[in-house]
Amino acid sequence: MDRTRRVANAARSLHGLALGDAFGEQWFGYRGAELTERLTRRIAPQARLWYWTDDTAMALSLLRILHLCDVVDQDALATHFAASYEADPYRGYGPSMHGVLRAIHEGEPWREVTRRQFEGQGSWGNGAAMRVAPLGAWFADDGLAVVAAEAERSAETTHAHPEAVAGAVAVAIAAALATRGRGEAAPDPAEFLAEVAGHTPESDVAAGLRAASRLPAHSSVRHATGVLGNGSRISAPDTVPFALWTAAHHPDSLPEALWHTATGMGDVDTTCAITAGVVASRTTLSDIPKPWLTAREPIPTWVDTGGTPAPPRS
Ligand SMILES: [Mg+2]
Repeated sequence: MDRTRRVANAARSLHGLALGDAFGEQWFGYRGAELTERLTRRIAPQARLWYWTDDTAMALSLLRILHLCDVVDQDALATHFAASYEADPYRGYGPSMHGVLRAIHEGEPWREVTRRQFEGQGSWGNGAAMRVAPLGAWFADDGLAVVAAEAERSAETTHAHPEAVAGAVAVAIAAALATRGRGEAAPDPAEFLAEVAGHTPESDVAAGLRAASRLPAHSSVRHATGVLGNGSRISAPDTVPFALWTAAHHPDSLPEALWHTATGMGDVDTTCAITAGVVASRTTLSDIPKPWLTAREPIPTWVDTGGTPAPPRS
């Protein structure tokens, strides 16, 4: 596939991911009645600047490695994640990632660092899934087996647990399908979720996706999060099925998808990042209100140009 097309496909997804991340993060600033009222009446967050978080920071590293290497070079990716963390650690990284990224930055081999997490099981957090949608868009025309394999390789650099890897594969497949479906009628939500599950390694994530595909068509967000979770446990199985359920049901409206995902709260920056990274692969940001675009913290221009980005600050 033409590289210009890869860059454009991945940029659409990255812009969505960063917007979802920044939009979702804002909801942690509200509580109680005000939170409920804003989400129910769809009153956008009022902060002047919506900062993005670790979801976007890590997605930028992953995309940069794709721009530079064309495929996932695991050593380069682990090094870039760690350098980006060291340059700007205050992006809301998950508790276990601080130790992982610091150890990699200090020169420990990433395989050893990631495998010793959680008494040797590795992290099954949602951190590999939250950053991966642009990778699905990048490899969309190469076939879903390539998408799955590259997603797996990207996950392994920080997350050794099979559930975290399965979460990344599922999100990348969903983004690839959304990219490939541009210009065509959106697929039936149940069929879309079942197809994503079919390409995801057997896991709780895949079981959750099948449960999501079986939810009645007009299920409420409250019902969906009751069955699927909302990321409040920060695990991949607790996060990915719900985020892809809202994406599947609102494939042609990014604002609609985001309001539904935010209403589920939980790990809301990450669920919104996943949903938006998938939906924007199809829709772009064209239906996002102007004030939201102005409020979102900017992202580097190389995302769109594909040009060689400046080396990270250290
Ligand atoms: Mg975050």
